[in-house]
Amino acid sequence: MTRDIRQDIEHWVRPEIRALSAYHVPDPGDCIKLDAMENPYRWPDALVNAWLERLRAVPLNRYPDPSARHLQERLRVAMQVPQDMAILLGNGSDELIQMIVQTVATPGRVILAPEPTFVMYRMIAQVLGLNFAGVPLKADFALNLDAMLEAIEQHQPAVVFLAYPNNPTGNLFDAAAVRRIIAEAPGLVIVDEAYAAFASDSFMGVLGEYPNLLVLRTVSKMGLAGLRLGLLAGPPAWLNEIDKTRLPYNINVLTQASAEFALEHRDVLDAQTAQIRADRATLQAALMALPGLTVYPSEANFILFRTPAGQADALFAGLRERGILIKNLAGAGGPLAECLRVTVGTPKENAAFLAALGGLLAA
Ligand SMILES: *Cc1c(COP(=O)(O)O)cnc(C)c1O
Repeated sequence: MTRDIRQDIEHWVRPEIRALSAYHVPDPGDCIKLDAMENPYRWPDALVNAWLERLRAVPLNRYPDPSARHLQERLRVAMQVPQDMAILLGNGSDELIQMIVQTVATPGRVILAPEPTFVMYRMIAQVLGLNFAGVPLKADFALNLDAMLEAIEQHQPAVVFLAYPNNPTGNLFDAAAVRRIIAEAPGLVIVDEAYAAFASDSFMGVLGEYPNLLVLRTVSKMGLAGLRLGLLAGPPAWLNEIDKTRLPYNINVLTQASAEFALEHRDVLDAQTAQIRADRATLQAALMALPGLTVYPSEANFILFRTPAGQADALFAGLRERGILIKNLAGAGGPLAECLRVTVGTPKENAAFLAALGGLLAA
């Protein structure tokens, strides 16, 4: 064994992969987990028992229905996908983002998004050997429409991703600006509505008005993050092409059965998301009452805030020591300098977070 593994890696691993660092998820330990936009609520015991009863009948020895037709039809109703639009399911919307980019991936092509935004657009583009163009948002995190249109003209992107509402900033972009971008873009525009359950607007009803518009949804943020299930809706001609990149049986039998069951009990999930929306307003007001914070408006289940200069890392670490895990975005600097992001938890979790943060700010 004299062969040097590092030399082999240098030789064989694609340079763009070597340059990446893997997507890092911290170990929460026993912390109150307010870092990942999860719904904090579980189901009532009776519902858990009914779900387990349903799973009893699932044949684990058989491959799943390859296109999950029953689940698709339930999701079409639940997410109000127009009848003449097609649906494609993914193992999380992350997988659908990967499939979309794979469909158009040729070296030299460009994927474009405003920044800061969801990091997977850039990461997947880079993994697949495409170029990524990030267009800075304005200081208040609104779209810079002129800069977007200029970048679209310059780069002729194969795909534009717009998170609506945006992560990690929490705001909805101006709908008229989004429409301009869809109209001007030479390729696909993906409106990523991961936080639709918490937002006051959607492009789902706009599908069909533009041949290049696709809408992305997920069940993760509405309370089923563990299932890994995302949905892409759009014109059948586009989705037929993207479907060719899908690995067979990507939605496993447990996810299909569990998601169908959950959607039959939609009222439970809806009550939970309504509770989270109400608690978001309470949390927002309480954060604004703390000294020195800039709190950004949110149409999602998290709130972004800016700490006094030079304090973000210490506040994040102090919260962690007190058993509360949020997301520190300050490391990236730039427009997110001094920014932290907190997911809306249960009233009790939010109160613990506020008490700890208030204590740290007063210290
Ligand atoms: C969380 C998130 C996703 C990923 O959702 P999964 O379905 O869990 O893969 C996609 N887009 C945005 C903007 C997100 O914040």
